[in-house]
Amino acid sequence: MITYNPRSITAILPARPSGNFQRLQWISIAALVIVLALIWLLTWQRLQAEEALLEKNAELQQRSLAAIIAENLAQVVDRGRLMAVTANYGADGDNSRASARLTSMLASDRTFLRLALYDNALSRLSSSSPFVDSPEIKTFLQLADNPTDALLATDSDVQVGPLLKENAWQVPLLISSHHGYTPRSGYLLAMLDLGYFLQLYRNIDIGATGSIYILGLDGTEIAEARPEGLSLSQEPRHLPQFAPIQYPNGLWRGAIPGSEGKQLASFQRVEKAPFIVVVSRGMQEIRASHGGNSLRSWGTLGSLSIILMGAMWGLVRSTRHQQTLLEALRTSDEEKHGLILRLESEKARAMTLASHDHLTGLHNRRMFNELAASHLEGAQRSRKHYMLMYLDLDRFKLINDSLGHHVGDKLLHAVSERLRSSVRSADVVGRMGGDEFAVLVTGVEHAQDMDVLASKLVAQLSLPYPDIDGHEIQVSPSVGIACFPRDGHDVTTLCRHADAAMYESKRMGRGRFTYYDASLNPSHDRVLQLERQLPKAIENNELVLHFQPKVDLVNYQISGMEALVRWQHPEHGLVYPNDFIAMAEKSGLIVQLGDWVMQACCAQQARWKAQGIPLVPLAFNVSPMQLRDGSLAAKITQLLQNHGLSPCDLEIEITESCLVEPINQAVKVLEDLRQLGIRIGLDDFGSGFSSLSQIRDLPISTIKIDRSFIDGIRSNTDVGVIVTSIITLAHGLQMRVVAEGVELMDQLVQLKMAGCDEVQGYFLSRPVPGAEAEKLLLQTTIIPT
Ligand code: C2E
Ligand code: MG
Ligand code: MG
Repeated sequence: MITYNPRSITAILPARPSGNFQRLQWISIAALVIVLALIWLLTWQRLQAEEALLEKNAELQQRSLAAIIAENLAQVVDRGRLMAVTANYGADGDNSRASARLTSMLASDRTFLRLALYDNALSRLSSSSPFVDSPEIKTFLQLADNPTDALLATDSDVQVGPLLKENAWQVPLLISSHHGYTPRSGYLLAMLDLGYFLQLYRNIDIGATGSIYILGLDGTEIAEARPEGLSLSQEPRHLPQFAPIQYPNGLWRGAIPGSEGKQLASFQRVEKAPFIVVVSRGMQEIRASHGGNSLRSWGTLGSLSIILMGAMWGLVRSTRHQQTLLEALRTSDEEKHGLILRLESEKARAMTLASHDHLTGLHNRRMFNELAASHLEGAQRSRKHYMLMYLDLDRFKLINDSLGHHVGDKLLHAVSERLRSSVRSADVVGRMGGDEFAVLVTGVEHAQDMDVLASKLVAQLSLPYPDIDGHEIQVSPSVGIACFPRDGHDVTTLCRHADAAMYESKRMGRGRFTYYDASLNPSHDRVLQLERQLPKAIENNELVLHFQPKVDLVNYQISGMEALVRWQHPEHGLVYPNDFIAMAEKSGLIVQLGDWVMQACCAQQARWKAQGIPLVPLAFNVSPMQLRDGSLAAKITQLLQNHGLSPCDLEIEITESCLVEPINQAVKVLEDLRQLGIRIGLDDFGSGFSSLSQIRDLPISTIKIDRSFIDGIRSNTDVGVIVTSIITLAHGLQMRVVAEGVELMDQLVQLKMAGCDEVQGYFLSRPVPGAEAEKLLLQTTIIPT
């Protein structure tokens, strides 16, 4: 059998998420954020450092370039200075030779466009080619002696002339040749071709936003080289930031008019020449390469962060989703668990209801059979004894009828309690229905122990019940015992045999126990023999009738006779009906037997009638099968006609067993009989199942109270009460009451006082053969003595 284990699912589920779990999730997210923030910070620092390094590199580059250009310019000026000295020195006052020399010097140095030599009075001595000084040059030469305002710088022997509006790249330099070793002093005016000079650097990478400036010492822009070419401004800019007094060289960051954005500029003053060289480049361009790098870094970092955050979010979401699912699963599991527990408890309740008797709490028949069967299975391997006891309560129905069902129910409950306490816990006790109980006695060491147990049980149950709803009730059990495996290998057989043994107990006088032991029973062979011989016995006319009178308690007249069949057996002598009626009922022979009895009764009445003996109604017993026959009334009518009798000469006695389902057929036959005018008596009332209320509508004119009540009428006041109430109730239903089995005067007196109509019993007369019955009829009364 598969059983549900309530822990099976929850056991495999992870523990229910606590507040800690959620805290852990938040901590994980916070940790990730902190780590990411750290990475961002470090990246930012790294990029800053890289940017600084980049600037440093650019700075160094610009510085070197500025230094190189300054150095080159210084060399150019030096060359001019050398030319001034050389031209003067070699000409030796010969101007034409000097001019030739100047022309040859100019041919060898393309940085100068023209050369002219002047004396100290600034009169031209010679020139590299014939040309006219421009008015600005003239003015400049005039001022050269007093070079304060016009000259751009005065701290060297070189002076820069005015910048020409046309040909602005031609910068006039006035170089003094006043040296100690020169034979004559003067000046060399050299037209410096800054365009050519700056073009020498065109292949040098100064960047797209870079510029090379050549400034005068006061910061006035002389020329500017840009990547796209020379820019020699007509309106010279003044850039004083590159002409600090204290620092000849340096760096400067800031906007330069005419340039885009912030610039990084390196400036270098040209040694012994009135020039400042500035190399600048846009900061943006410098950072541009790094910018791409940093953008990549930030991009990578951003993507990484997004991926990590996304992964974390996904993880948290999936964990939460999983938790939700688990929670849903757990909730559903708990609900299922609760449902299963409820179902199991309902099932257990249903099982209890289905397996227990609601009145007594004992096992019901079905459960008893199941339990007993499982015990017997084990018993097959055991050396111990197992026995099945069947017991019922004598006269229980009468108690039920007279004192009410609620008293009967309480009595059954009290009996079951006593029964349970009288047996061992290992034994199985069940209520099989009505007032029938069964006990499977298990594992008994010695067979004799069963005697002790059964006697104890009978004694215990026979003790009075002092207070059953205010009544003291005494009831005895009749017990039958079947032994396993001798009397049966299964519960059904054992029950049947124990039941048979119980009826034997009842037959033997009730309040006792009897073993079922067919093989050891000395009467067993006889029973088999009788069973075999009975059909022949009827044919051979071995049956005889004995008659027992019923006496009216008012005048002690014989009010009726009961015909009781006997078998005059050639071997066993007189055999009584208890030994063959049941067997005839079982074999179906009872119909034939009954027919014989009816016929014999009618014949006897006819004989007595013919002899003039006063007739009283002659009652004969009818079995259930005869009633079911349906032709009973017709048969009796025929018999009455055949023997010239009237219906009042006969009476029939039925037992309660005639009134079990299906009852319709029996009722119809009884109605037919009553229509016929035949009185019907209900025999052994109180020993069966019926109650007065059940038979009130049946055509019954007399009830015969069972012998067991009459037995107890003296010893038990409650029985007296029961008998009295039966009599009262029966009278209420217009029925006469006959008491059976009256053996004592006391019983008779009490019955008379209770209002009983008639009595029948050994006290007045035993059943007697026809001849003796004839005498009784003749005396008409039986006075009790
Ligand atoms: P029953 O019809 O209740 O008959 C009364 C029985 O009680 C008779 O037993 C009778 O001898 C016995 N009896 C009468 N007075 C006393 C008494 O004071 N003390 C004691 N201890 N017993 C007394 P019997 O003749 O052995 O008959 C037993 C049963 O057999 C009858 O009970 C009846 O049910 C059945 N029976 C007898 N004859 C016939 C018959 O012809 N047809 C059928 N179907 N059943 C019959
Ligand atoms: Mg009878
Ligand atoms: Mg009877």
